[in-house]
Amino acid sequence: MRPSLDDSVRYVKGVGPRRAERLNELGVRTARDLLDHFPFRIDDFSRVLPMGLLTPGSEVTVQGEVFSASFVQSTRGKAFRVGISDGTGAVYLVWYNMPYMYRNFRPGLSVAASGKVEWRRGSLEIAHPIWRESGTPREKGPVIPVYHATQGLTSQSLHSIIKEALKVYAPYIKPLIPKSILDKHGLLSEVEAYRVIHNPDSPEAWEKARRTFAFREILSLQVGLLSMKAEVEKAPSPRAFTKFDEARAFLRDLPFRLTPAQQRAIDDIGRDLTSGRTMNRLLQGDVGSGKTVVAMWGLLSAVENGWQGALMAPTEVLATQHYKTFRDLLGDRARIGFLSGSVRKSERESTLEELESGEIDILIGTHALLSPEVRWRSLGFVVTDEQHRFGVKERLKLSSGHTILPHMLVVSATPIPRSLALTLYGDLDVSVMDSMPEGRSPVATRCLNRSGREMAYRTLLEELSRGRQAFVVCPLITEGKTDRKAASMVKKELEEGYLKGKTIGLIHGSLSKNEINDTMAGFAAGKIQVLVATTVVEVGIDIPNATAMVVEDADSFGLATLHQLRGRVGRGKHPSVCFLIASTESGFKRLKALEKINDGFEVAEMDLRERGPGQFFGTAQHGVSDTKLAELGLSLDVIARAREEAREMLSLVEKGAASSEIRETVERIRQRFGDPLTHGRSR
Ligand code: ADP
Ligand code: MG
Repeated sequence: MRPSLDDSVRYVKGVGPRRAERLNELGVRTARDLLDHFPFRIDDFSRVLPMGLLTPGSEVTVQGEVFSASFVQSTRGKAFRVGISDGTGAVYLVWYNMPYMYRNFRPGLSVAASGKVEWRRGSLEIAHPIWRESGTPREKGPVIPVYHATQGLTSQSLHSIIKEALKVYAPYIKPLIPKSILDKHGLLSEVEAYRVIHNPDSPEAWEKARRTFAFREILSLQVGLLSMKAEVEKAPSPRAFTKFDEARAFLRDLPFRLTPAQQRAIDDIGRDLTSGRTMNRLLQGDVGSGKTVVAMWGLLSAVENGWQGALMAPTEVLATQHYKTFRDLLGDRARIGFLSGSVRKSERESTLEELESGEIDILIGTHALLSPEVRWRSLGFVVTDEQHRFGVKERLKLSSGHTILPHMLVVSATPIPRSLALTLYGDLDVSVMDSMPEGRSPVATRCLNRSGREMAYRTLLEELSRGRQAFVVCPLITEGKTDRKAASMVKKELEEGYLKGKTIGLIHGSLSKNEINDTMAGFAAGKIQVLVATTVVEVGIDIPNATAMVVEDADSFGLATLHQLRGRVGRGKHPSVCFLIASTESGFKRLKALEKINDGFEVAEMDLRERGPGQFFGTAQHGVSDTKLAELGLSLDVIARAREEAREMLSLVEKGAASSEIRETVERIRQRFGDPLTHGRSR
């Protein structure tokens, strides 16, 4: 039989049923998946320096075998010290106050490490190096690709399996992008790029292959989004809205005055709604800028003009909160329903009936809104809150299957650098909310080392004694290999230590929805003083009485995420404080910037400079392909080139002037992207 890229990995040479299972765990099912399983890093042993030649004060990469491991006392605390040697000399790797590091080393282990080498304690030392088990003998070649591996399947064995797969399947790769276009941008052909990314003979070649794939993904994304925009613009839209009395009255009755930014956003939306075309708008604004009211105004306008509205939130917690806010602020201006996975069957059934009969005006809920049994009488306005938690396809699914395409408002508190907004949301118009409600004092942010924890919790206790509440945020749910604290362990530690006698609640992603709801309700009602949580609290939660936050192991978060997190406090009239506890020195330096910067867009720009644009695509989950853009070393230059190229290709197609090659490329991308109007029905 002719090999096909859709063949199960099971039939690739060197893979049996057992390894196939392991590969499945990595999301690799077919030969194509295998070729698309790119190394996320390379080990460049051509740059490794012999230890005998090191000069103190320089940044180096070394490789050697472990010959000693011990603890020493130092002025900075207890230090764990590992000696490695490569035959020409020795270097000691040192970690302060991280005793668990000892678990990672045993004599004879081959280790590569980089960092600044210094002369200390009579030897060459690298403190807190970047390190890894190297294991691989040098003779394998100077550049070794490193893959995400799994239990029982090392990076090395993955590499040999992929090499086998390449031999057989490379001829069957059907390139997506015409070679002429890739040539024009100095990129590799796709087939060549597959060969090189898995077998680079230099870091430069590897980079070029990654660039090629990044270009392909961004180009596809752009062609997809722009085509979608064109489709949507052609589809039948709700009749132009004409009545805005109720919506105006709602604004008048609010207990506060709109900010200029809110007013501008409402004007933008109003213009869309009266235009007779379907709105597709992104509402972007920092946490706390008051986006909910803007969304409410839109939904209420829809109701007034005879349409139903939907509000979809990414978490149960957030959906529930919105439900409450809507009921409080809208009163009897609209009939509101709630739907989520945890709503009981009988209640669910009556809600669905009321929705279909039109008794419910606005339905608020989670992903449950996307379920096929949800049938609307006349859906005309869709809001997706905290868009970054949804993928493009989910966003579209709600509006699919309706003969008339509802207006869509996409709300996001993740500020996207301007240079990226167009690429990420190429199909949307954008309203930016860049001013905050008055009387907000910015959250005072303090970045601390581990040694500052006690101080942080002392401050938190002071806040509690004033009747305020507090968040403690931790990165992981279960104790991993590193020392990232499990939320439940942190809670236990705090209960017995710093926060003895206080009421502490716990929420994390693996609790049941009811448990999370109960705890949140308790916190909102002030019965719980401190909420220990994972990033579940990241999105949208509004508890004005919470004035202090401690983020444990803050350096394991991106700056943008931390900015979001601290936005959970500082929502009331009292001044608030957020402590970021860094577990490493480099992390501490990175986070320090947040002490001074309070503007989300500035934070995003900084994140962009520091970690590149890939991460923004990562959180937006565009899911154009299985390739993880964040790992392709995506650069702004590639993005700009790919966007320009996408526009050019589409305009050629539009004018009927495209070559057959280009037409085919565009056609294939559109198919892969899917038709926005049939999403949810097909695919
Ligand atoms: P976000 O933009 O993060 O979604 P919210 O819409 O949840 O922010 O608003 C945060 C808080 O600010 C809410 O309690 C809301 O009632 C309040 N708020 C909204 N607009 C204003 C305003 N113009 N003046 C004062 N407070 C406002
Ligand atoms: Mg919000």
